[in-house]
Amino acid sequence: MTILNGMSVDVEEYFQVGAFERTIDKSDWNSWQSRVVTNTGMVLDLFAEAGVKATFFTLGWVADRHPALIRRIVSEGHEIASHGWDHQRIFTMNANAFRADLAKARKALEDAGGVAVTGYRAPSFSIDTRTPWAHQVLAEEGYAYSSSVAPVAHDHYGWRDSPRFAWRPLPDNSLIELPVSVAELANRRMAVGGGFFRLLPAALTDTAVRQSNRAGHGGMFYFHPWEVDPGQPRVPNAPLRSKVRHYSRLGAMSGKLRKLLGRHQWGRVDAVVAQERCA
Ligand SMILES: [Zn+2]
Repeated sequence: MTILNGMSVDVEEYFQVGAFERTIDKSDWNSWQSRVVTNTGMVLDLFAEAGVKATFFTLGWVADRHPALIRRIVSEGHEIASHGWDHQRIFTMNANAFRADLAKARKALEDAGGVAVTGYRAPSFSIDTRTPWAHQVLAEEGYAYSSSVAPVAHDHYGWRDSPRFAWRPLPDNSLIELPVSVAELANRRMAVGGGFFRLLPAALTDTAVRQSNRAGHGGMFYFHPWEVDPGQPRVPNAPLRSKVRHYSRLGAMSGKLRKLLGRHQWGRVDAVVAQERCA
């Protein structure tokens, strides 16, 4: 049996990424040129060409400003899920602030898309050992799944010792956590999605997907709309390491994605969740 792997896009503007959060103040977001509609449109075209359905974890902030984009995503058969309101990392909030952020984002997404939102991805994979209450809040708010953990050590994020494949964080609730896929080489876990896919050989992503499938689980891949946009305005004064990571190989991303879409069986994350529940 072929195993379905999750294809996902974290829908946010190029100026809203974690790497620039110390350089660009949220109060200045409205002064930056918006590129998210065009960039996400390119991603939708890539998916249409490959015949792939995916999940778009979208900021409420984006849905509020660009409801037509949300309607297009839904009308093309993709899943709309939540990426929070304005990319606030969970470990900077308490449980009540997290609940409020979830509600604000969900209202914007559901108002725009006209469909129920049941999936959530934390900004910068910020569910980790600092937020032991996060999955409980998601369950109480009626979410079916979360894809908010990076089971890897990284300088910005990661929960290194968490399960590598789908797991149930709560004993009394069916909520499923689908961590982002990592490759394991010589007992070391390596991140392969997002910027890592852009910067590293695609074979590492193939390894991560195959390792998941061999273990009986769907893989979980993600990237961002701004990663297919070499023409995005440059952010001055950002730390050099952030700039190198953000801007490298943007021009090669579309071609690399096109090939990846043809190499494995990809689908919406809610379909991967259904597959996990039947397994
Ligand atoms: Zn994000």
